[in-house]
Amino acid sequence: MMNLPYEVNTALEMLKNAGYEAYIVGGCVRDSLLGAVPKDHDITTSALPQQTEAVFKSFRVVETGIKHGTVTVIINGMPLEITTYRIDSEYVDCRRPTSVSFTKSLQEDTARRDFTMNAIAYNPTDGLADFHGGAEDINNRIIRCVGCPDERFQEDALRIMRAVRFSSVLGFNVENETKKSLFKNKALLDNISRERIASEFIKLLCGKDVFRVLTEYKEIIAQIIPEVSPMFGFDQHSRYHIYDVWEHTAKVTESIQNEPVLRLAAFFHDIGKPHCFSMKDGEGHFYGHASISEGICKKVLSGLKLDNKTKDTVTQLVKLHDVQIDEAQAAVKRFMSRRSPELYYMLLKLKRADTLGQTPKVIDRLEMLDRMEKLADEVLSAEACFSLKDLSVNGSDIISLGVRPGRIVGQTLEALLEKVIAGELKNEKQELLASAKEILGVGEK
Ligand code: ATP
Ligand code: MG
Repeated sequence: MMNLPYEVNTALEMLKNAGYEAYIVGGCVRDSLLGAVPKDHDITTSALPQQTEAVFKSFRVVETGIKHGTVTVIINGMPLEITTYRIDSEYVDCRRPTSVSFTKSLQEDTARRDFTMNAIAYNPTDGLADFHGGAEDINNRIIRCVGCPDERFQEDALRIMRAVRFSSVLGFNVENETKKSLFKNKALLDNISRERIASEFIKLLCGKDVFRVLTEYKEIIAQIIPEVSPMFGFDQHSRYHIYDVWEHTAKVTESIQNEPVLRLAAFFHDIGKPHCFSMKDGEGHFYGHASISEGICKKVLSGLKLDNKTKDTVTQLVKLHDVQIDEAQAAVKRFMSRRSPELYYMLLKLKRADTLGQTPKVIDRLEMLDRMEKLADEVLSAEACFSLKDLSVNGSDIISLGVRPGRIVGQTLEALLEKVIAGELKNEKQELLASAKEILGVGEK
């Protein structure tokens, strides 16, 4: 017996009372069986799209994907996707189906779904409808294709990414035949749009088992991002590292909070290392690796068609991941002034994860990073001045001293800010103006 939201029950009831079959299906059933709260509920029904629209004529209905049989019904503000039982056919180029046909059979609808765990339907009257052994696979925490894996991956190669993504997110293993087929068919991923790949890849990175999945499925990752292969097995020859570059990358990725921007930054931070390796006195060095990583990261993220904000933040973090910031308020303020407090905190998270991915003997460095975080907390809670907008004088104040508007105004403000940050001046108007006069060489008139 599953606990369904009132709105979902209402929709199932209304379809049933109108003489149709209706079930929740897919991710929501899987997540409920796992004891998790589903993030949405998809409904599958024997009603044709027009019939569904008629049943819900007193509700707001959006024809979201009418040619795929999907209408969205909004009940109490909750959007519910209701899709007619269907069979997908005629896959071209291993991508989305070019045509769909509707069916009266729930069993046929479940057979088109990717994995057994995603092919279970449920409603309160009939209970579970599990034609492919999905509940047992969920119990055993196994990802298994519905039907013949080679055929299913050849129909739609995105399923390869979905399998690996679910393995990372749910912590499930992939059943052996399905797993062999993943590797065998990986080249088909080249036919899938970069946007769809990127969306699965980011979910994969945010999974709790990302370390295992990145190491177990590295050839699949290399298929979508060939730039990673030089990292595989690359020995760092460093007393600070017990892992090769790829394992280190995977460790750092798992050690950072599971926000897309942070996980992406961790994933790319050392991708340039194999391109700048040198040895001296038995120790490996990677001079300039952060900027090489930055370049590769920028190119790959553009290829994945990510939005500019994500791309910029990730690239900045990669570029800065190795900079040393002095353990002093002034240095912290300078960083936050030039970049932003948000970037500072993200960078500390990256540095902390980077440290955790090295040798286990890193307590000192972690303590140092804790102190760096406290410094920033202090700066922000004291509402200390660290940017031009915090300064107690502005451009007009400088101009009123008798200088012409122009670059000199900004330069003077920058110079004052630097003095305040360095603790040489208080952030007080009179004191700042006096200093500005000195800088500008204008006397009292
Ligand atoms: P998530 O938690 O990511 O939403 P989900 O299983 O709900 O996981 P969706 O992409 O929302 O995934 O898809 C809903 C359902 O549609 C899946 O559970 C599965 O039954 C089916 N499905 C989605 N994508 C595919 C695909 N590429 N091939 C076959 N079936 C698919
Ligand atoms: Mg879903």
